[in-house]
Amino acid sequence: MGLPSTPMPWFGMDIGGTLSKLVYFEPKDMTDDESDSEIETLKNIRRYLTKNSAYGSTGHRDIHLQMDNVEVGGRTGTLHFIRFPTSEMGNFLELAKSKGMATLITTVCATGGGAYKFEDSFRREVNMKLAKFDELDSLIRGMLYVETNNPRECYYWANPTDSDRCHKVAYDFSKPYPFLLVNIGSGVSVLAVYGPHDYRRVSGTSLGGGTFLGLCCLLTGCNSFEEAIELASAGDNSHVDKFVKDIYGGDYQRFGLPGDLVASSFMGLYSFGQMNSKEKRTSVSREDLARATLVTITNNIGSLARMCAINEKVNRVVFAGNFLRVNPISMKLLAYAMDYWSNGTLKALFLEHEGYFGAVGCLLAFNE
Ligand code: ADP
Repeated sequence: MGLPSTPMPWFGMDIGGTLSKLVYFEPKDMTDDESDSEIETLKNIRRYLTKNSAYGSTGHRDIHLQMDNVEVGGRTGTLHFIRFPTSEMGNFLELAKSKGMATLITTVCATGGGAYKFEDSFRREVNMKLAKFDELDSLIRGMLYVETNNPRECYYWANPTDSDRCHKVAYDFSKPYPFLLVNIGSGVSVLAVYGPHDYRRVSGTSLGGGTFLGLCCLLTGCNSFEEAIELASAGDNSHVDKFVKDIYGGDYQRFGLPGDLVASSFMGLYSFGQMNSKEKRTSVSREDLARATLVTITNNIGSLARMCAINEKVNRVVFAGNFLRVNPISMKLLAYAMDYWSNGTLKALFLEHEGYFGAVGCLLAFNE
């Protein structure tokens, strides 16, 4: 592999259970000769991808994440970040076909379960071969690359429980090892990372972003992740959950469980504990239910992450995955939970490109 044998266009794809992530490398260092000889179809595809921010009715380019002036496989250019629901794969392939993709001899590097599931459709519809890469290798490779190339990639939340003083702070992650990487997609994977090629998947849970979205749609009748997050932002989980103080009538100090609402809510102790009462059920709002679902899923992941960090003896926990997209509630909860339950020894870190690392990682793997 490697250049100049890898013909353009260069794509990396991560076809997940919920979302497909597409990273496109636009070369900016083309010589005049190269430009002149570039075939029309390739030019059209480049123009189409870089001019638009919406593709069809469900594809989006995250313009705010675009990375300029980066080096990939010895070339300099721009990385573009595009996502669409995996359920729309049929429409995506049709669009790619209509742009002439099938006339190019192309191999696309792909990771995620969909790289297997859709392999035949890619070959049939757009004459594309998928070069498959391991999901977790790609995740780590992509994360380290983006982190190195974007000085403001990694950050933490200062004062996560104080809405007035809470803000993002850039974190210097230039000496990363060891760290825990908690990837929250449809499900959750927890990796202990000791070096660029030295990691283990130490845990995981099936209760992740997919569970949040599924349960929230069931409980509130909402129809999208964005709507679910909007509802949760206006809700109050104390109308749904049961707290330590409701049961003990105060602090349960023997076990170090605080009775106050804010702190105990981070433990998510008795999620949905009030919903056995018919009366409470009739007075609860959709917003409260969305918030309680979000808090339940987030706290469960937080407590798993904390146990893994203790087991692996690491004190930095990096959270990634699209569950955290437009979701400061969960990020702040995780930040607070890590800090509070570890007496300040664990630090929760977050990344701007959240869900795109797998796609970046396989693009790099193919063009190295
Ligand atoms: P996967 O590779 O399993 O699809 P992602 O990292 O892409 O995982 O995360 C998917 C999760 O991200 C969903 O389960 C949902 O909680 C959340 N999410 C964020 N944005 C969206 C969106 N626009 N549509 C659907 N889910 C979204």
